Amino acid sequence: MPRISQKTKRISPASKKRKVKKIRLSPKRNTKKKETKNVKKINTPNLLRGFKDILPETSKYFVGILNTAQNISEAYNYSYIETPILEPAQLFIRSLGKATDVVDKEMYIFDNKEGGKICLRPEATASIARAYINHGLQTKPQPIKVWYLGPMFRHDRPQAGRYRQFHQFGCESIGERDPIVDAELISLAYNFFLDLGIKTVVHINSIGNLEERENYLAELVAYLKLHKNLLSTDSKKRLTKNPLRIFDSKDERDQQIMEEAPQIIDWLTDESRDYFTEVLEYLDQVGVNYILKPTLVRGLDYYTDTVFEFYLEEGEETSQSALAGGGRYDGLIEYLGGQEVPACGFAIGVERVMNILQARDEEKQKVYLSLPKKERPRVLKGVFLAQLGKQAKKQALYLIERLRKDGLKIYHNLAKSSIKTQLESADKLNVAYTLILGQKEVQEESIIIRDMESGVQEIIPQSKLKQKILKIKDEEKIINPGSKRKK
Ligand code: AMP
Repeated sequence: MPRISQKTKRISPASKKRKVKKIRLSPKRNTKKKETKNVKKINTPNLLRGFKDILPETSKYFVGILNTAQNISEAYNYSYIETPILEPAQLFIRSLGKATDVVDKEMYIFDNKEGGKICLRPEATASIARAYINHGLQTKPQPIKVWYLGPMFRHDRPQAGRYRQFHQFGCESIGERDPIVDAELISLAYNFFLDLGIKTVVHINSIGNLEERENYLAELVAYLKLHKNLLSTDSKKRLTKNPLRIFDSKDERDQQIMEEAPQIIDWLTDESRDYFTEVLEYLDQVGVNYILKPTLVRGLDYYTDTVFEFYLEEGEETSQSALAGGGRYDGLIEYLGGQEVPACGFAIGVERVMNILQARDEEKQKVYLSLPKKERPRVLKGVFLAQLGKQAKKQALYLIERLRKDGLKIYHNLAKSSIKTQLESADKLNVAYTLILGQKEVQEESIIIRDMESGVQEIIPQSKLKQKILKIKDEEKIINPGSKRKK
């Protein structure tokens, strides 16, 4: 260690600078130039365009949606189904129709090593219809009611709310043709959104059966041919490939032409009309908020009769903002080589719902942060366990396990030893109470319980811990979220 000599006080200011420079209190820095290794820079592969990671900070929305989907599906007696992500390409070409955007432009198709073409599924309805036929499910009591939640793939142009891999939660009811089936599915989806605190409006229409649709299409094409010159280039192409899709055009002139176009509802037979009326009556009965949309046709070939889409109650209505879509598809199973089996279903876009939930939380956070610090309500929730010392760490792990078996979740940060760091973690989590376990407590089989708001601490026997935590949970239930905790 260098020592500062008293003598340095007596040297002249001019030389002082030089002398002081020599005096060092910190270890001498290594002035040798660092050897620069000849390391090749590795370029980390990037996420593919239109694909998305669901990171820890947003996965809570995904998991919340998954749990809500499971709870509501089970409550309506739907069983979970899982089908492969890779399927024969022909399955979708046949089901959705060649002239649809999904098949025409958006499928991820590959050569199968064993021959033929395979693809990443763009949706799940066709897969479920295939599974129904492959496993002879028509021999089981009908209807077969299934739900799924999984990734779908469409090579679309990525933009807000439109990804190349996205998830859909969907339900299918196969085997019955009854308006109550359509209404039950719509009601299930409507209540799924309500359970997440999202108010929606259902756009609904009937496109009749295949025969009615063919008659209507002839009339529609005749009308459109009269206005062909005014149609956009895209819609001119659609006129021969899939004229119904012109209803989805974003072009203003196309929209004006479509406003005057014949409407499918006028081409329905009494049977189809009565069927649709009954669906609406059931929806009235259960209080689903819907509006009739005579121009809603949905893009896929397999739909018959009831078709619907879900939108935010107060939101902009574009195809990018539809939260869900669905309808009846009575011809699909037969079309895929099965028997004549009616069916109905819907699919909800999970990422679009996640975006709504996240935006809602960000909005709340903005309001919260706009308040002066003193007025910001702290919502305290849960219990944290902090430990001090090796013995306490061991016992903490045991206590956490014991409480988990009793159905109680405890936050912790067992990898940290410093009590200060652990209390900081507890504070960041906004927990109401922290349990503190030290050497003394281990020996006495007790535990300290600290009220994080008042700082008051109490020592209780470990045998009373479960009872105490249950009491805390009950207390939390009666605290109005957002208000100050009751003392
Ligand atoms: P569809 O199968 O096209 O009827 O879509 C049903 C729902 O899935 C839509 O209403 C969207 O919420 C969602 N969805 C469809 N395509 C995409 C996409 N490319 N990216 C994200 N969500 C999508």
